[in-house]
Amino acid sequence: MRDLAAKRAVVIGAGFGGIALAIRLQRAGVQTTLVEKRDKPGGRAYVWKERGFTFDAGPTVITDPDCLEQLFEGTGSVLKDYVDLLAVDPFYRLCWEDGRAFDYNNDQEAMERQIAAFNPADVAGYDRFHKYSEELYQEGYLRLGTVPFQSFWSMMAAAPQLMRLESWNSVHAMVARHIQDPQLRQAFSFHTLLVGGDPFKTSSVYALIHALERRGGVWFARGGTGALIDGLCRFFTDLGGDLRLNASVERIETEGDRATGVVLEGGEVIPADMVASNADVVHTYDKLLGRTPRGKSKARSLKSKRFSMSLFVLHFGVSTPQPQLAHHTICFGARYRELISEIFSGPELPEDFSLYLHAPCATDPSMAPPGQSSHYVLSPVPHLGAADIDWSVKGPEYREKIIDYLEERYMPNLRRDLVTTRIWTPQDFKDDLNSHLGSAFSLEPILTQSAWFRPHNRDDVIPNLYIVGAGTHPGAGIPGVVGSAKATAGLMLEQAADLR
Ligand SMILES: Cc1cc2nc3c(=O)[nH]c(=O)nc-3n(C[C@H](O)[C@H](O)[C@H](O)COP(=O)(O)OP(=O)(O)OC[C@H]3O[C@@H](n4cnc5c(N)ncnc54)[C@H](O)[C@@H]3O)c2cc1C
Repeated sequence: MRDLAAKRAVVIGAGFGGIALAIRLQRAGVQTTLVEKRDKPGGRAYVWKERGFTFDAGPTVITDPDCLEQLFEGTGSVLKDYVDLLAVDPFYRLCWEDGRAFDYNNDQEAMERQIAAFNPADVAGYDRFHKYSEELYQEGYLRLGTVPFQSFWSMMAAAPQLMRLESWNSVHAMVARHIQDPQLRQAFSFHTLLVGGDPFKTSSVYALIHALERRGGVWFARGGTGALIDGLCRFFTDLGGDLRLNASVERIETEGDRATGVVLEGGEVIPADMVASNADVVHTYDKLLGRTPRGKSKARSLKSKRFSMSLFVLHFGVSTPQPQLAHHTICFGARYRELISEIFSGPELPEDFSLYLHAPCATDPSMAPPGQSSHYVLSPVPHLGAADIDWSVKGPEYREKIIDYLEERYMPNLRRDLVTTRIWTPQDFKDDLNSHLGSAFSLEPILTQSAWFRPHNRDDVIPNLYIVGAGTHPGAGIPGVVGSAKATAGLMLEQAADLR
């Protein structure tokens, strides 16, 4: 390995993408400082501990553990030295208001039996969809997921394959081509919502998530996703990396067309040969580079793009166990297409909802005091640009409505047994995470905002400035942002070698 030790990098933001990038740089010998504005790392994967309950703020469905294992390659350590991953089964329980349910996992026989109970003709259709998803996985994830699309031509080189796989169609359109039953169509298309995409608009490439889950399984870190974040940060500091918390970056310093480091709120300067931002892309260009012509023009163009919806999240602790719940439940409401359209376009908070209910004690009882249970429930809601809602008023009302719904359908005596609650709204995404419009997943993953059309892993004008995380290629979700770290690290390490 060439000597990169004299090179210094700063990574702004300790979300999954920032941490993964910092690990890859540090393990290659680049002296890396990871600066995070909040008191704990994780970003969307922050954690709260309250009265013995552990509440993961965001990601709970861990897929493709291999992408995390790869962070340890060549270091003599393995993921298991830092965190224990537990298999989750079923992957999800999907429930509808008519009382039907579907336990989704990678047991082919059980899947076919359940599909047949909904519609026997869909068993063969599912098989065709699964094969299609496998092809997408090979092409869209394994081949292109960690390749930076720095030029238009790099994208054109991939175009023939993507055309063959009809990537201009939406995920729902491709599911509907193979599967007839309306509820099964929901069961195999809702996944795009987990990465901020409308299943009726997101490119069918995202149907690869099905194959990703069937192949790699669904996992949960013992102690919660926060324990996974802690483990990765410990690994980074064991490698010699420097993690700075409560360190909000005020601006990225530039000289001519080069970044020279960052300035923290309070004035401290951290010089660097290369700067990477894991902070929200609009925040990066608008605020951190707002004084530069590049920052101004890029921020203006980014603000004209479509952003993913936001989320309302209610964390709550219950004094009783809830053995009737699977670890992950999708509670479909009465409407699907219309509800999703209102969530993505506003102009108001829809009256009804579809929910994701997290019950981690089903896999790991240590998430709550003995005999009790820890939960969160999330409802996709319009971002602040699509519906101008005063969440300080609406939030508590919405909480009550969701608690009533859960008590009626999923958790009897919930109100009686509630120990503690906390809510997290689009306004918190904006204020605490600097997220543009309070979007939960950054730029919407539509075809015209993907690959080369997404903000590039290396800036086009400032050649030693890099982007990592949900706002760059390939996009949101843990495998996505960890993949973005691989793409970005490849570019940075090439540059570090050239800087010698
Ligand atoms: C509620 C929820 C549930 C989800 N569930 C799943 C799931 O189950 N599975 C899955 O794979 N994905 C899930 N996702 C998506 C996934 O969590 C995100 O796509 C991913 O974690 C985003 O990571 P990131 O690297 O883009 O950084 P982020 O998590 O966005 O972190 C960016 C960091 O930058 C910091 N920062 C911002 N500005 C500054 C500044 N000026 N100075 C210093 N630091 C700054 C922020 O504080 C933050 O820590 C979920 C998301 C949410 C919100």
